[in-house]
Amino acid sequence: MAVLEHLTSQHAIDLENKYGAHNYHPLPVVLSRGEGVFVWDVEGKKYYDFLSAYSAVNQGHCHPKIVGAMTEQARTLTLTSRAFYNDMLGKFEQYVTDTFQFDKLLPMNTGAEAVETALKICRRWAYQKKGIAENQAKIVVCENNFHGRTTTIVSFSNDPVARKNYGPYTEGFIKIEYDNLSALEAALENDTSIAGFLVEPIQGEAGVYVPSKGYLASAKALCEKHNVLFIADEVQTGVARTGKMLAVDHENVKPDILILGKALSGGAYPVSAVLANDDIMEVITPGSHGSTFGGNPIAAAVGMAALEVVKEESLAENAMELGQLFRDELNKFIPNCDLVTKVRGKGLLNAILINDTEDSSTAWDICMALKENGLLAKPTHGNIIRFAPPLVMDREQLLECVSIIIKTLEAFKK
Ligand SMILES: *Cc1c(COP(=O)(O)O)cnc(C)c1O
Repeated sequence: MAVLEHLTSQHAIDLENKYGAHNYHPLPVVLSRGEGVFVWDVEGKKYYDFLSAYSAVNQGHCHPKIVGAMTEQARTLTLTSRAFYNDMLGKFEQYVTDTFQFDKLLPMNTGAEAVETALKICRRWAYQKKGIAENQAKIVVCENNFHGRTTTIVSFSNDPVARKNYGPYTEGFIKIEYDNLSALEAALENDTSIAGFLVEPIQGEAGVYVPSKGYLASAKALCEKHNVLFIADEVQTGVARTGKMLAVDHENVKPDILILGKALSGGAYPVSAVLANDDIMEVITPGSHGSTFGGNPIAAAVGMAALEVVKEESLAENAMELGQLFRDELNKFIPNCDLVTKVRGKGLLNAILINDTEDSSTAWDICMALKENGLLAKPTHGNIIRFAPPLVMDREQLLECVSIIIKTLEAFKK
């Protein structure tokens, strides 16, 4: 079959089912084009994208500036490996460290790789700087975390679906309740071999769980007191999604190690990065870590363009404003609706909680109905629907989306 032959949705779904591993359960919609806040399926139906590829497409689909930077670089030089220097990586590193105010950056490709990198840096720091005895370093993580899919990362997940039958698991992680400062304090006080605290400023996959005000700032202070690195996984929350460049900015917290991915490329290309200051990053030496594609010229060009778009188009401010509007509008509706108990979130990372048992299909069925009405969203854990449109949305579009959501929920009540 010719690669360019036009497929129907059903045919495309059949092909994936037959020839692809079944590691996802997608909504049955087959997309073939995207522009800004919209995507189109192969039959030409237009949708508002309310997932943004899990917040990777913050800058909107096929942003011309990002695509332009990518195609120009693709015609010039794509990959050198780090065996040689290339003329783009240093510029990218300077631009990103400048933007986020760190001394240094280590480039990777996916979010999971960047998390792995942060864990490795943290462990090395523990042995070389903090003086923890060999192989004793521990990292505190939170219950219901999501940090990716590698063997080590699923070792400290408590999602049975993500974890089961992938053992033996990596040791050295202590799990505590999220948004619980006394649990963190107890963990840090009980054990002098703790190297780091890895945390999502908002737990996205867990259902857009926003911690109590002050949690991140107090957690950072506790880490400082115990000489433990505060590692912020901002792969989903970073790059303007929550109304600030970083979600930790809401509490003026400066992480010791910052992990970025997803929207660092505007969804055009896999680009991730770990940032830290010299006293931490200097534990990384030639040969001690690496990636063939990490820091390649296309990634560097795309990453710079993606961050420029965020600044030039004031996407953080827009996310802040539209996010507030979104929650205000839904909060007007929710008291008259038994189906939804709550809307929560920050900026344009939001979720509604469906009033049904965790294992019911209600959230899925609502997403199917939203799809019919021209809006794509996906349930996350339990009976929760995440709403995270591209940040290039305007006020009028957001209000139209709110009315699609409300209309859909209303029809659903009957
Ligand atoms: C998506 C995500 C990751 C993993 O990123 P991948 O690119 O899928 O490997 C890690 N942490 C958080 C918080 C994420 O949302």
